[in-house]
Amino acid sequence: MISAVMPTYGRIDIAFDRGEGAYLFTADGTRYLDFTSGIGVVSLGHAHPKLAAVVAAQAAKLWHTSNMFHIPGQERLAERLVANTFADTVFFTNSGAEAVECGIKTVRAHFDAVGDPGRYRIICANQAFHGRTLATISAGGQDKLLKGFEPAVDGFDHVGFGNLNETRAAITDQTAAILIEPIQGEGGIRPAAEDYLHGLREIADEYGLLLFFDEVQCGMGRTGKLFAHEWAGVAPDVMAVAKGIGSGFPVGCCLATEHAAKGMVAGTHGSTYGGNPLAMAVGNAVLDVILENGFLEHVVAMGARLMSGLEAIVAAHPAVLAEARGRGLMVGLACTDDPKPLIAKLRENRLLTVAGGGNVVRLLPPLISGETEIDAALEIIDDSCTQLGKLGEGT
Ligand SMILES: *Cc1c(COP(=O)(O)O)cnc(C)c1O
Repeated sequence: MISAVMPTYGRIDIAFDRGEGAYLFTADGTRYLDFTSGIGVVSLGHAHPKLAAVVAAQAAKLWHTSNMFHIPGQERLAERLVANTFADTVFFTNSGAEAVECGIKTVRAHFDAVGDPGRYRIICANQAFHGRTLATISAGGQDKLLKGFEPAVDGFDHVGFGNLNETRAAITDQTAAILIEPIQGEGGIRPAAEDYLHGLREIADEYGLLLFFDEVQCGMGRTGKLFAHEWAGVAPDVMAVAKGIGSGFPVGCCLATEHAAKGMVAGTHGSTYGGNPLAMAVGNAVLDVILENGFLEHVVAMGARLMSGLEAIVAAHPAVLAEARGRGLMVGLACTDDPKPLIAKLRENRLLTVAGGGNVVRLLPPLISGETEIDAALEIIDDSCTQLGKLGEGT
């Protein structure tokens, strides 16, 4: 008999009752160190006192009005995102997939508005992940996303991630944009090289294409800059954001330059919930914390501590681990084989992590994690690799 909850997830047999900072607790009080952050979402940790207070105060005042009316919190968050990024304008959504969808529509509407509606195709990367709606699984392009849901939405071409020659070769007179994640997340924490990002910007400018970054996972301070593309100094024309911006409250947004957003005029796009007063109170409070002096520097320092510890662990356990890679607190630990036994062992030792493509264990700690949490995680990872290694010898 089918379960009451539609069985689309393979779930781990644990439920949590409460959280505090980087820790989660089951109802019987067992404590886990949470290096999943709800898959890169709970950027400020669980039950952050400032966010809890902001939600309670806004909940007692006003939740929702619809976008028929002005929403001052939305205007404020949009202005602050504009002031801190390449963008001139922002559309608010409830999720990452909707933010990417808005970006796809922004691209198509741009070429329609400039009188070139035949240009609608978007070049995407292999192993990409952009969400689970029909258009975003088509942009992701992987068989495992599309299987059973075909036909794919038309308009997405795929080339090797990091491959500028393939990107150039895929351009036709129907190409409108290039869409990539500056660090592929689900694909296994694969950072784009800086020259690749520069090359994409040059190609986009040469052919009059829009450059579209999906920073749903790598944005909002995760890498130690507000957005990951800032490390390379390459700005997109359109960008999707979600996950960390609500720290667990569903918020997403699509940012664009004025030029890119030329077609997004009144009546063209909408969302009932997107940008409602409750969501915007949370988004503004999250941004307050991330923009505080020293916050991003803390992420850089903790990322460096985590990475140097992991590099030593990789060197000590070559039979289990192949490589540690990533930026800031977006880190992938590539295993020599299937990562599931290591993830299960880490969980047994009370550290929660998440799988990624290419035999990768993803470490996505809350950005508020300190030396204590980083060091505790490193110790568990080291011990777990030792325990796995011993198992391997015994069989
Ligand atoms: C998670 C993710 C999405 C989809 O976000 P949802 O909120 O699940 O719709 C899109 N792009 C990237 C890069 C992601 O990591």
